[in-house]
Amino acid sequence: MVEPEGERVIEGIAAAEGLAVGPIVFQHTASLGHRAAGSPLEEREALNAAMAEASREIGVLVAGADKLAAEILEFQGALLEDEDLLGAVLGQLDAGGAAHDAWAETIDGEVAEYRAGDDEYFRARAEDLLDLKTRVLRRLHGAAACDLPPAAEDGILVAEDLTPSRFLELDWSLLRGAAIQGGSPTSHVAILARARGIPLVVGLDAELDDCIQGAPAVLDAKTGRLVIAPNKGTLARIKRAQAALASERCAAEALVDRPAVLTTGDTVQVLINVDDPAILEATVPAHCDGIGLTRTEFLFRDGHLPGEDAQFEAYRRLIVWAGGRSVTIRTLDAGGDKPIPGVTPIGETNPFLGVRGLRLSLQTPALFAVQLRALARAAALGPLKVMVPMVTVPQEMDRVRALLNDTLAGLAAKGVAHARPALGMMVEVPVAAMTADRFDVDFFSIGSNDLVQYLTACARDNPAVAPLADPRNPAVLELIRRVVEAARAKGVEVSLCGDMASDPDLVPLLLDCGLRSISVAPALIGRVKLAIQRHGGGAG
Ligand code: PEP
Ligand code: MG
Repeated sequence: MVEPEGERVIEGIAAAEGLAVGPIVFQHTASLGHRAAGSPLEEREALNAAMAEASREIGVLVAGADKLAAEILEFQGALLEDEDLLGAVLGQLDAGGAAHDAWAETIDGEVAEYRAGDDEYFRARAEDLLDLKTRVLRRLHGAAACDLPPAAEDGILVAEDLTPSRFLELDWSLLRGAAIQGGSPTSHVAILARARGIPLVVGLDAELDDCIQGAPAVLDAKTGRLVIAPNKGTLARIKRAQAALASERCAAEALVDRPAVLTTGDTVQVLINVDDPAILEATVPAHCDGIGLTRTEFLFRDGHLPGEDAQFEAYRRLIVWAGGRSVTIRTLDAGGDKPIPGVTPIGETNPFLGVRGLRLSLQTPALFAVQLRALARAAALGPLKVMVPMVTVPQEMDRVRALLNDTLAGLAAKGVAHARPALGMMVEVPVAAMTADRFDVDFFSIGSNDLVQYLTACARDNPAVAPLADPRNPAVLELIRRVVEAARAKGVEVSLCGDMASDPDLVPLLLDCGLRSISVAPALIGRVKLAIQRHGGGAG
């Protein structure tokens, strides 16, 4: 791009929305320098001390952490207690190795294994292993915890990389945002930044050096840019954008507890997506029209399959929280980007096109039966909709309906309280979208994340192809419109619960496709309602 005179524009990827102006606080990853190795006994003692110190530091961070941060930190804490890992390091020390080499080599070996697997969960965890590796190495080398350079206040942190635990150590009240060379929008650091509203740009495409220290800069984490020594024009533009963002947030806040109404007077249902019931503690039921998607994979997070009663209890809580508003619970959508060790098949060459979602539930009938029973029992407590993911052909839904009928009959025979929930499907496989009129269901919910992935042939977890996976592609919008029309013709409800619905810029397009119900991330309720209110009405 043409750079206005004097300023330096570094392109990156926006990972957490926001805009900031301030001096650069540059932190380059200091080399740890030389460390002389001692005797095997001395090296053992040095390693033990470094690990104990790392464990103490992580403990301090856990104490002030929220659920997400605690999960990341506890994983690192557990690694420090992992006997196999420790055994491998100690083995090298006994053979005369230096503690820093043994620790680094062992962790690097683990990281390579984590990264080589198919499992997205383990690939993400590699980041945490490297974080822990650095922390222990710093202790071994006696490096002080690196404080921010002076004049950090109101600055923009620029670094080669930022580990999750380092992110959690920083005092973000002193900083306005960050830009890093490494990272990706799906990294833990990006997730932490989004959750805290800290503007973040990752993947900076430039070499960085000390001479940028203290330079005035603009962080544009909407377009994904760092501008060093911005000229007057850039500063004026970013100030206007900041003011617009602030007034947008303010207007959204004012709308959050009101129904979403188009300028034509039509009401649009705004439901919420629940990935983890913990989010409900911070969400007011009256701000939404109910729950449009519950990703029940949260039940299986620690690798144990909860029994019927535990599932029933989890579903009961959602229904109680909703207080009479409808609650949509999706049956297990394991596989693809949501693998569950011990449940999803291993060794598939392409798990996104393999046995995932409903396909897996139908192949593991015992698991599916437990979930259907718990759901049918919960349906007696309030308006419950059961939604099935990754449906391809009508016969699959016919099988699910037959299984649900068996479940209801079984509960009736035993005199267990239950009710028939509405039964619907996600529309996220292109052939299902094109033949929606043929499915015998009570409702549809369009899964735009997978629909876009399968239509554009771009893996949703691969940032390298992200620009091609454009939800504005006319083929995507045309297919959404067709599903809405098919639902209308059948007289069944249709909603959309993919990430498109949580993007205020895309909401008008969905309304133009005729949608009058969407399910969004709880944090975005206000901004989405604002986008609806501003929309002219469109098709419908
Ligand atoms: C989707 O595919 O759009 C969807 C909502 O489901 P998930 O993101 O859980 O696959
Ligand atoms: Mg999906």
